[in-house]
Amino acid sequence: MSLKRSTVKALLASQNLDREVLVKGWVRSRRGNKYVQFIAVNDGSIIHNIQIVAVSEQGKELPLIKLVWEKEIVANTGPSSEEAFKQITTGACLAIRGQLVASQGKGQAVEIQATEITVLGAADPEAYPLQKKATSLEHLRDIAHLRPRTNTFGAVLRVRHALAFAIHDYFNRNGFFYVHTPIITGSDAEGAGQMFRVTTLPPEHPPRTEDGSVDFTQDFFGKPTNLTVSGQLEGELAAMALGSIYTFGPTFRAENSNTARHLAEFWMIEPEVAFNELEENMDLAEDFLQSLVRYALEHCADDLQFLNDQYDKELLTRLSFVVDNAFQRLTYTEAVEILKSAKQRFEFPVDWGTDLQSEHERYLVEKHFKKPVILTNYPKEIKAFYMKLDDDGRTVRAMDVLFPGIGEIIGGSQREEDYTKLTTRMADMHVPADELDWYLDTRRFGTAPHAGFGLGFERLVLFVTGMSNIRDVIPFPRYPKNAAF
Ligand code: ATP
Ligand code: MN
Repeated sequence: MSLKRSTVKALLASQNLDREVLVKGWVRSRRGNKYVQFIAVNDGSIIHNIQIVAVSEQGKELPLIKLVWEKEIVANTGPSSEEAFKQITTGACLAIRGQLVASQGKGQAVEIQATEITVLGAADPEAYPLQKKATSLEHLRDIAHLRPRTNTFGAVLRVRHALAFAIHDYFNRNGFFYVHTPIITGSDAEGAGQMFRVTTLPPEHPPRTEDGSVDFTQDFFGKPTNLTVSGQLEGELAAMALGSIYTFGPTFRAENSNTARHLAEFWMIEPEVAFNELEENMDLAEDFLQSLVRYALEHCADDLQFLNDQYDKELLTRLSFVVDNAFQRLTYTEAVEILKSAKQRFEFPVDWGTDLQSEHERYLVEKHFKKPVILTNYPKEIKAFYMKLDDDGRTVRAMDVLFPGIGEIIGGSQREEDYTKLTTRMADMHVPADELDWYLDTRRFGTAPHAGFGLGFERLVLFVTGMSNIRDVIPFPRYPKNAAF
């Protein structure tokens, strides 16, 4: 019977010792001499490595093991062994058979006493970029295709996975339906930023109409199309039929934001709930975020401990704090008062009616309240057309959730459900009603109060991992002048 591969994670947790096991993974390090060799192997299942030991019999030299290289046995006795082991370099991929035993050394509970090591793929130490010495995160961005092999990106990618799973799990448990909204959109009126054009017309010589403009009737869809900036408008349609829905998909923004918190391609989670008003929308956002962070603390303890020790000594404390403390809720108007009387000097001045900058958001969260903040009721001029107008006619039922180190992590609102008020707002803001006729049908037929928000997935991963640049929490970051890989 052939032996099944075990993951490093399963072996490290195993109580069942002194049995033959098979493990496959990549070499993190190797050390030793002609009597004993230690190889640290990682297979990505967990941050920890398993220690492979190849030990000689008393008085003899290595190995007692069979070392297989490209299907040929290159060493199984005698003095050639140490040379053979030198082929096993950082980054090489191995399959190891041996006995799982209690470790005699410190630092691990179990180890494998190898009986057979097969080199599945070598990694030329002259050429392999990820040698043992620490490599900067900046440099790793240039070799993003190899980053997952590092401890840091292994941890980040496992946490990212856990959070994605926790999101689906949260919504599933709470009766939300996952709706797939389109990635290519025919409306350029979503109002959340600049868009990437999707076209099959030749860029050099696009067909032109008589007045010289590009003739999009000849384009693939017979009209201009773009990559979506948000699934919200389509999400609203679904909420007005299914009650509680969410989207979780890629979104694209062509704004030239070269910051540590913006990507040109990012993933967004957008719940939308019929009959919810602003208060319930805030309750949902708070409960949702807290339960995601709690999930990560419970299921990613090893990875978070590593990130805490390596990058951000406050990480675990901050995550627990967010789970255990209610968010501070206040209106934009109240926030402006606080900012105006703040001792701190800001680069951008604050006045009622201006949009808050990241420095203002972070002052409120990190200095003033020292906890997550939900700001509500922003001036209508700085928010999107679909937000419900407050009775004073000056503000809208918007809500932004602001997090320490991040600033805005969620943006949402109660939606304007009144057809006349909505179309008036659209006209005021020059949003073309004819293009959004399909959207207006929700207000024409069986309209109801409803509310929702958008959570930037990478901002959440950024917060939970304690990394400082959003480009380091997505496998292949897209940002201005960068679409390598
Ligand atoms: P910001 O003011 O930070 O640029 P926004 O107000 O333009 O964000 P929204 O349109 O409200 O963002 O999008 C909802 C959420 O999506 C934001 O709260 C944020 O978490 C995330 N988000 C927005 N733009 C980006 C981006 N370029 N890269 C990564 N995440 C983003
Ligand atoms: Mn926003």
